[in-house]
Amino acid sequence: QTTALEFRSPVPLPPIPDDLTIPQFMLKYQHSLRPSRPHNVPWLIEDRTGKGVFTEELLTRTHRLANALSARWNVGEDDVVCVFSPNHVDYPIVIWAVHSLGAVVTPANPSYTIEELVYQLQISQTRLIFVHSEFVKTARTAAQRAGIAEDRVVVLPASGGGKVIGTSIDELISSAQSTAFKEYHLKPGQAKSKLAFLSFSSGTTGKPKAVKIPHYSVISNVIQMAAHYKVNDACAAKKLFVPGDVSLGVLPFFHIYGLVVTMHFMFFCGASIVVIPKFSFVEFLKSIARHRITHLFVVPPQVVLMCKHPAVKDYDLTHVRYVMSGAAPLSGELVQQLRKLCPNASIGQGYGMTETSTSLTMFPPDQTIGTIGSAGKLIPGVTARVVKADGSLAGEGEQGELVVTGPSMALGYLNNEAATKETFVDGWVRTGDEVIIKNQEVFVVDRLKEIIKVRGFQVAPAELEGHLLLHPAVADVCVVGIPDDYSGEVPMAFVVIDTKFKATLGQGSGEVEKLKKAITEHVSVSKVQYKWLAGGVEFIESIPKNPSGKILRRVLRDAVKEKMKKG
Ligand code: AMP
Repeated sequence: QTTALEFRSPVPLPPIPDDLTIPQFMLKYQHSLRPSRPHNVPWLIEDRTGKGVFTEELLTRTHRLANALSARWNVGEDDVVCVFSPNHVDYPIVIWAVHSLGAVVTPANPSYTIEELVYQLQISQTRLIFVHSEFVKTARTAAQRAGIAEDRVVVLPASGGGKVIGTSIDELISSAQSTAFKEYHLKPGQAKSKLAFLSFSSGTTGKPKAVKIPHYSVISNVIQMAAHYKVNDACAAKKLFVPGDVSLGVLPFFHIYGLVVTMHFMFFCGASIVVIPKFSFVEFLKSIARHRITHLFVVPPQVVLMCKHPAVKDYDLTHVRYVMSGAAPLSGELVQQLRKLCPNASIGQGYGMTETSTSLTMFPPDQTIGTIGSAGKLIPGVTARVVKADGSLAGEGEQGELVVTGPSMALGYLNNEAATKETFVDGWVRTGDEVIIKNQEVFVVDRLKEIIKVRGFQVAPAELEGHLLLHPAVADVCVVGIPDDYSGEVPMAFVVIDTKFKATLGQGSGEVEKLKKAITEHVSVSKVQYKWLAGGVEFIESIPKNPSGKILRRVLRDAVKEKMKKG
C-alpha cells in the first residue's frame, strides 16, 4: 500500500522462486499466474515463412545446443556468451542453452561497428559469440581484436538459409549426441545473485557499462507484470493476455524491453511471437495484418508513424487488442490518435530501465486508454520514492527524482564500483528520471541523467565526447540531446575549436561548414547510426562547467531547447 512518502501498487505480489534459472522457470515451472500453452500454439513464428517453432522443437534445440556448447568449448558457470544478432527464431534457444549451463548472455546491437562491439566484448569478457550471418565480418574482426579465437564465432543463418561462413548453429546442434547435458542447478536463494545477462546501459553518467542482471530479477519482472495484468486470474474482469495471443516481436531482443517484456513475458502468457528481424514500416503493417497480431509492443517513433503514415489506412488493425509504448516518452495526443486506428485495443505506456530488468510501471488492465501523460502505474512489488532536489522525500503530486526498489533490481555494473555506488544505493536504484506520482501513476517530467534517447536507444554523451576529443580540431566538447519529432531526441555537439587548429582554418563560412561536416563524419564512421550527430555541430568559445570542472550540460541543453521554441 502507499504510505505518505513511499508509493506501491495495492496488488499483492505472489511468491517468486529463487532457486531457478530462467529456462527452468520458462520451460518447466508451473506458476499460479501462468496459463498452460495449448500444443498447437507455437512459441515463435518466423515472419517471412510463417514457420512455427512448437514446444518439442524448442526444447530439443535448446538442450542439444547446451550439450554441444558444453562438449565443444566446455561452456559452463559464469562464462560469457555474446549474441550479436537481430531478432531470430533461435535467439531464445541460444539464451536458454547458455543459461542452462550456468553461463551468462551479453546481447549486442547487430548494427554496432567493430569498435563498439570490441568494447562490449572486452567489458563483458565474452568467450564465445553467436552472430547472424549478415554480420559475420564485423563479429570476426571484433573477436580477433578482443582475443577470441575465430572458431568461437557461431553463425545464425538468415531466414531461408544462404551461405554461412564458419560453424552454423545447425551444425552445432546436429553434432550433439543427444539432448542430455549436465544441467546447471541453483541452490535456494542463489538465483538472486547468479548472473543471467550483462546488458549495456550508461546509467546516470559516463560510458556504457555492463549491467549485472541475475536470473531472479528477470523471473520477478515477468511475475510482476503477470500479477499487474491478472494473467490466468479466473476472476479478472478483463483478460488482456490469453494463450494463443499473437505478439509482434519487432523490438530488438538485444534491448532489455524486447528481451524481458516482448520475449519472456509474452512467452509466459502463452503467446506466439512473430519474429521480425528488421523494422521497416510498411513491412511492419503487412506483418500485423498477415499474422493477425493481437499484441503490439512499440517505441514512440513507431507510434508516430502509425499516426502519420498514409499507408496505415490500407490495413485492418481491428484484431489488435493491446498496444504498449515504452523506452521513451509518448505524448497523450498520439495515444488518442492511436486509439482511433486500433479501436479494439487497450493502449498506454510502460516505463522501466535496464538497471531494473525493465518494467517499473505499465498501464493497468482496467484502462482502455492510459491516463494522458502517464508512463503507467507502478507494478506489484515495486516501491517508489520521489526525492526532491534538497534530498527530502516528495509526497503525492510533488516533483523529484524517482528512486525505486523491488525484486527485479539489477546488482550493479560489472567491474565498476564507482558507477555502481552512484546508482545502486542501499538496495535502491536511482532512475535519474524526474517524475511526479499521483494515484500510483508515474508522470515522467524530465531526465536528470546524462543519457540521450534516440528512438528508444541510449546514447551516452560521454562516449561521443571521448570520441570527438580524438579529432584534431576539437579542444573541448559537450554533447546534448535536442528534441526531434520522430526520434524523440537526437545528439548535438557543442565544440570548442583547438586554437592551433583555428589558426590553420581559412576565412569564410565555407571553411566552418567543412569543419562541421568533418566532425560529424568523425562520429558517423565509427558509431552506429542512432549515435550520429543528427542535431548538428555548433562552435562555442567555452563549455560551461562548475568549479570542479563538471560540464553543465543542462545549461546548454536548455538553451538550445529555448532557441528551438522561439523558432
Ligand atoms: P533503458 O535502460 O535503455 O531502457 O533506458 C531507460 C530510460 O528510458 C529511463 O530511465 C527513462 O529515462 C527512459 N524511459 C523509458 N520508458 C519511458 C517512458 N515511458 N517515458 C519516458 N521515459 C522513458
